Amino acid sequence: MSPDPTASVPIDAAASVPIHTVGFVGLGNMGQPMAHCLVAAGVKVQGFDVSAAARDDLANAGGTAVDNAADAARGADAVILMLPDSNVVEAVADSAEFLEALIPGATVIDMSSSEPERTRALAKRLAGFGIGLVDAPVSGGVAKAVTGQLAIMVGGRDEDVERVTPVLARMGRIFRAGPVGAGHAVKALNNLMSATHLLVTSEAMIAGERFGIAPEAMLAIVNASSGRSGSTENKWPNFVLPETYNSGFALRLMLKDMRIAAGLAASLGSPSVLGDRAVALWADAAEALPPTADHTEIARWLRDTAATTAQESS
Ligand code: NAD
Repeated sequence: MSPDPTASVPIDAAASVPIHTVGFVGLGNMGQPMAHCLVAAGVKVQGFDVSAAARDDLANAGGTAVDNAADAARGADAVILMLPDSNVVEAVADSAEFLEALIPGATVIDMSSSEPERTRALAKRLAGFGIGLVDAPVSGGVAKAVTGQLAIMVGGRDEDVERVTPVLARMGRIFRAGPVGAGHAVKALNNLMSATHLLVTSEAMIAGERFGIAPEAMLAIVNASSGRSGSTENKWPNFVLPETYNSGFALRLMLKDMRIAAGLAASLGSPSVLGDRAVALWADAAEALPPTADHTEIARWLRDTAATTAQESS
């Protein structure tokens, strides 16, 4: 008998509970290519997004598009959420239809950049239904989502994490952060660092340019020196200098993550003087730019703001 071409293939037959079917809710800039990685690995992916175009993209890539989040959960061994923030994650994961559709023992994996304390609380609520929650936010942007090379920072109980490891491994490299919520805490803190680097890099680049240094030369020097970061190695050369500003990560989402990190620091009584100042500057940029602005546009905003300030003081 020839094999059924529609049958799903376990990702890792050696795993104690093979995962055949994954529900995927949130097929945006990141979720779409991540879901494609699972489809390419032979997983049955049943995906939902409020955007019909996103659902069509999944179907065209070989996944199954469904009409709502509950249908994505129905019969799935694990359900991945890749949504904008904790508000949307809770709207989906706490809904009665979604909870009823989950099979006993299913695991919910929140790969969105959510709020760690709200993730802990959600884990408690889901545990009441016999459902495990793993937080597994990512870094690496759209480019690494496409190639399945994301950094995945994972929080959760050992048994839940082990169960979903074969699925996560298809989308990137797994780093264990700690108990549930720890992945989301690291993600927010990482983005506060990344956003602050991008801001100070942009300030330094403007000063260098005004001194007459070619930006390409300055980046080459810094990238061989101690000032280098993801901003000098990736964001400035790939999105700011060519003036494309199309990294695929929205400025409003970066600001959301920075606020989560600053709030976490405040709640822990740990210092966040520079972090708070960076949040305030990014908030100014968010107010001045359209809601769809890419986060790399912070560099353009800074240059425009600096030019206006220079004009006013001359
Ligand atoms: P996005 O806005 O492109 O995608 C979010 C998707 O969720 C959209 O397609 C939207 O239609 C959908 N959605 C919203 N509400 C929904 C609902 N109730 N049900 C179903 N679908 C719904 O955002 P993104 O850039 O893909 O980011 C997703 C998450 O990953 C965010 O938390 C973000 O902070 C994080 N993140 C993004 C990047 C990046 O480079 N873009 C990198 C790392 C982490």
